[in-house]
Amino acid sequence: MNRRKFLGYFGCGCCSLLLPSCTSAPITQRKQLKLIPESKLNAQAAAIYERVKENEKMSDDTKTLNDIKNIGKRMENSIHVYFQRSNIPDPTLGFDWEYILIDNEKVKNAWCMPGGKIAVYTGMLEVTNNTNGLAAVMGHEIAHAVAKHSIERASRNVALNVATQVTDILTGGKLSTINRTTGMNTVGLLAEMGILNPFNRKQESEADYLGLIFASLSGYDIRETIKVWERMKEANKGKTPPEFISTHPSPENRIKKINEWLNEIIIKYPPIQT
Ligand SMILES: [Zn+2]
Repeated sequence: MNRRKFLGYFGCGCCSLLLPSCTSAPITQRKQLKLIPESKLNAQAAAIYERVKENEKMSDDTKTLNDIKNIGKRMENSIHVYFQRSNIPDPTLGFDWEYILIDNEKVKNAWCMPGGKIAVYTGMLEVTNNTNGLAAVMGHEIAHAVAKHSIERASRNVALNVATQVTDILTGGKLSTINRTTGMNTVGLLAEMGILNPFNRKQESEADYLGLIFASLSGYDIRETIKVWERMKEANKGKTPPEFISTHPSPENRIKKINEWLNEIIIKYPPIQT
């Protein structure tokens, strides 16, 4: 396969083949292939999120949960206002934002499902350490959802014809399975959603970049992001790497990149006044 043909299949050339399904990621303008309807994926995510709430122990640390919700609300708002003011369709219009703090000290992780369903595990709090650190991690996870990385990943699987489960998503079969299954544990459900699978390097880098922008627009000190990744590196020194590391590439390169972006983003994306 020559290079041109290769790009035709996987690069931005997807526009010529599948015109209606090729769009761009917000702000970065990276071309994306989207074959899976967002509404289906969001519905599936919402069903899994309900199961997570039933199966996991919710933390009674209301102070931290309120902190998470406040950060989330500010990000919801600033993201919406930013896109509106920039005359770009708001990618979060179909979102139904929700926030939980899961009581599990062993799990150093946080995620945001398609459609804005967010979870932070208490084990992650020693890494985030403070409100700005929490905002850094939430900004990154929210960026995955805003840039529709899960839709992109599932669509690529369709294009490569390797994931039979995607047909289930399209027909709603997977959703009914989730609704029927009561015995399945949370880890299994999250794996079904792909939440525990790493995104590719471009998507990770994009989530870092957009996450910094969203946190900055929301009024947080994004210089703390570097410290979060340093602490993550420190936490990684133990025997088992924390989940956040196993689903995310190594901190070394991203710290370097984040350092390069910081000042420009602080200047270019000041806190949104509403
Ligand atoms: Zn990520």
